[in-house]
Amino acid sequence: MEQLLSPQVRQFLTDVYRLSVWLTILTVIFVPLERLFAAHPQKIFRKQIVTDLGYYFLSSLLPAVLLGYPIALLAWSVHQAVPATFLQTMATLPLFPKTIVALVATEVGYYWGHRLSHEIPFLWKFHSIHHSAEQIDYLVNTRAHPIDMVFGRFCGLIPLYVLGLGGPTSTKDSLIPVVVTLIGTIWGFFIHANLKWRFGPLEWLISTPAFHHWHHTKTPINRNYSSTLPWIDVMFGTFYLPSREFPTAYGIRAKMPDSLVDQLFYPLERSNSDFTSPQPAMTDTKSSLDPDEEAVEIR
Ligand SMILES: [Zn+2]
Ligand SMILES: [Zn+2]
Repeated sequence: MEQLLSPQVRQFLTDVYRLSVWLTILTVIFVPLERLFAAHPQKIFRKQIVTDLGYYFLSSLLPAVLLGYPIALLAWSVHQAVPATFLQTMATLPLFPKTIVALVATEVGYYWGHRLSHEIPFLWKFHSIHHSAEQIDYLVNTRAHPIDMVFGRFCGLIPLYVLGLGGPTSTKDSLIPVVVTLIGTIWGFFIHANLKWRFGPLEWLISTPAFHHWHHTKTPINRNYSSTLPWIDVMFGTFYLPSREFPTAYGIRAKMPDSLVDQLFYPLERSNSDFTSPQPAMTDTKSSLDPDEEAVEIR
């Protein structure tokens, strides 16, 4: 049977099997936790769960294929533009500090890519699919149009390559983008989880579900763009985290089709005026979101 399959089909089936194993592990971890420590009462088989399962496989399989050429172009451009002596100096850093610098650099790149996805109407068309989820759990992490997913990842990789931490100059260096992407992906499932856990005084340092859930609130606030390091939002004046509550409603104002296929074509076909501008930034976040809420807002 195996001989009948081409190497590409065999690779595809292996990837699907690997992703199914990861999905089982994620489900075994998050589903019980989301029952025990739920931020909102919610069914396991919630609205849009089948669509999000489709996105889980799509978002895991496609970016690796789609990112190949842009990354090659990025590596070539960096090689042309960044002095070789700088790249060589960075290559001599020990692995641990190099990984920390890589994590921060990737997060800064991701922050700006994500922020632009809210501020530029064309990018918001694609990113709005991620925000259309009306119930949030760990699986919403993968609910993203492939263009949106690839753009976010690519923006994260730009500073990494410019700093000489993403080039395949050694086996260790080629590992760094993989490790950083893996940490970001695992944390991404956590911050979307329907979990009421809070980190108290550390919440400005490491992101929590509450921090990211506020990014998804239906009343648009255009805050909290970081995925793992909220202090980057503090630095750029977009940090918002009420001390007690979670948002009461998630989603977007525009009507999103239900099926995955329709959603994939939605940004390309849509000429609706909803998309002539991205979600407006809220000027008075405290009073507009919840008048009774004591907000922790650092600028
Ligand atoms: Zn967003
Ligand atoms: Zn999200």
